[in-house]
Amino acid sequence: MNEYDSNRIADLAKQAGYIKTSNINNTDCYILNTCHIREKATEKVYHDIGRLKKNYKNKKKPIVLVTGCVAQAENNEMLERESYIDAVIGPQSYHNVPSILSKLNDRRKKLNFTDFDVVKKFDRLNTLKNSESKVSSFITVQEGCDKFCNFCVVPYTRGPEHSRSPEEIIEEAKDLIINGAKEITLLGQNVNAYSSNKKGKIYKFSDLIMELQNLEELKRIRYTTSHPKDMTNDLIDCHKKVKKLMPFLHLPVQSGSNKILKNMNRKHTREEYLSIIQNLEKAKPDIRFSSDFIVGYPGETEEDFYDTISLVKEVNFINSFSFIYNPRPGTPAFNFETINKEIQKKRLIILQNLLENIQTKENKNQVGKLKGVLIENKMKNQSNYFGRIRNLTPIVISNANEKDIGKIIDVRIKNYNRNTLFGVKENAEREVAA
Ligand code: SAM
Ligand code: SF4
Repeated sequence: MNEYDSNRIADLAKQAGYIKTSNINNTDCYILNTCHIREKATEKVYHDIGRLKKNYKNKKKPIVLVTGCVAQAENNEMLERESYIDAVIGPQSYHNVPSILSKLNDRRKKLNFTDFDVVKKFDRLNTLKNSESKVSSFITVQEGCDKFCNFCVVPYTRGPEHSRSPEEIIEEAKDLIINGAKEITLLGQNVNAYSSNKKGKIYKFSDLIMELQNLEELKRIRYTTSHPKDMTNDLIDCHKKVKKLMPFLHLPVQSGSNKILKNMNRKHTREEYLSIIQNLEKAKPDIRFSSDFIVGYPGETEEDFYDTISLVKEVNFINSFSFIYNPRPGTPAFNFETINKEIQKKRLIILQNLLENIQTKENKNQVGKLKGVLIENKMKNQSNYFGRIRNLTPIVISNANEKDIGKIIDVRIKNYNRNTLFGVKENAEREVAA
């Protein structure tokens, strides 16, 4: 979602007369879009600005904007701690970027824009063409969170759940398709909590997927991130009915222990999670999963941790994110008693080794197979091309060419490493189904 927001911020800055540059040491304006999920991310902001100050020591100071969730959470504190920053702008206020830039051109005072006006933001963004021209593009369809997991800052930084109207989303999808998009990933903090209205009727996330599949030039649909609680039967059914919906789902579980899930206020049990996985597998037998895990959460015993390990073995996640629990000020869990750091680190290593082994084995199993690959782009400084198979695994193709970009072609898998597959194109003239 941060990548999507960054692109939209660039579109807004363009309206104020700025163009994107890769030369960060010679720019008039520097916008740092930030994440607040873990403490490290916040410190990274200050390090980046420290580096910037050094680089611009003998040059004209650029306008410096900090956008995103760190700006939201730290707002005035941030302006006081780092005088190099001109404005802090929360994730629901970045539609104000053009007016902020024009105000800052006179450089009078520090600005703080951290209102939660998500409706105004999307009203403004809808008037602006999404200029992204990537084969695989994103659309934010839902923002915010009402779930309040005990460890998480998102409900406080992104605000309450809000869904965009289907009309706005379809319009944006059409724009992206005109620009060359063949795959769209629908985004939201809890994307499957999406719920809107159309002609006086409730319009669900599954309705949105059904409508999107009718866009002819669109070949692949994905969505992320989902909450298990919102994995409704109609959505599971979509995985059976909608051919363009890819057989892969990122469905964070966080822990395999019911006691920890309860202490996290996750609102689902291990058994409920596993039953969703089973139902999805029934709907789409080749579907694969990834997850997020928090290791060393307050109160996690050896037994709780091994409940997570057994769940990983049961689901066989092909790709996942795992983190040591990071206490975040302002969240309920911040006041819980933490467990020993060495134990946390040891458990993270055990979990990550297991996840890596599963991922490597999965990739090894692909060798020799013929896979439909959507070719996204030529790789930087290489003659190779980059694409993804249906379950999202990245693949490097040695004999593709410019004409293959945006097409789904047959690729024979020749080699693998933990993260990536390597292959060669076959049946050059034939474009295959999604
Ligand atoms: N809404 C999604 C869900 O329900 O799982 C997750 C979105 S959250 C922005 C992304 C991931 O960050 C979470 O799944 C969780 O694993 C991780 N995370 C959030 N707060 C954390 C914390 N305090 N410490 C460690 N990891 C955290
Ligand atoms: Fe954070 Fe996701 Fe929980 Fe919301 S559902 S509080 S975004 S982890």
